[in-house]
Amino acid sequence: MRTRLGEPDENGRQRPEVVPGSEEIIAADAVVIAFGFQASPAPWFDSANIQVDERDRVTAPEHGQYAFQTSNEKIFAGGDMVRGSDLVVTAIYEGRQAAEGILDYLGV
Ligand SMILES: Cc1cc2nc3c(=O)[nH]c(=O)nc-3n(C[C@H](O)[C@H](O)[C@H](O)COP(=O)(O)OP(=O)(O)OC[C@H]3O[C@@H](n4cnc5c(N)ncnc54)[C@H](O)[C@@H]3O)c2cc1C
Repeated sequence: MRTRLGEPDENGRQRPEVVPGSEEIIAADAVVIAFGFQASPAPWFDSANIQVDERDRVTAPEHGQYAFQTSNEKIFAGGDMVRGSDLVVTAIYEGRQAAEGILDYLGV
């Protein structure tokens, strides 16, 4: 399928969207599947009361009551599942900040 850039989001970034009706089937002997960059919420998120946003990213604000706490007070999250595709250093930073958030939550 062909894609085109959609409307800018709140940060002014345009994301690719599928051009309707552009799908075509190409014969192939082998297909290599590449990893994507989209969050994929686990099936148990609903029963664990973990909220995600319109792009399936886990809601866990850095500057909430406890850093990177999700809508389930006992679960903290950071990295790509919260920010969307980003960098390793960002994921490490958020993991460390989430650990601080957990310590604050536990009061230790
Ligand atoms: C193709 C590609 C190239 C990239 N190149 C770069 C680069 O050059 N430099 C850079 O800085 N960043 C790069 N990135 C981005 C970087 O890889 C991510 O930002 C970073 O890995 C995010 O770390 P994370 O811990 O949030 O998530 P992840 O690294 O995705 O870690 C999540 C982990 O959770 C595991 N997991 C999932 N579900 C479960 C479960 N139910 N139970 C237990 N474990 C589970 C997964 O197996 C995975 O190991 C690249 C990403 C991609 C896809």
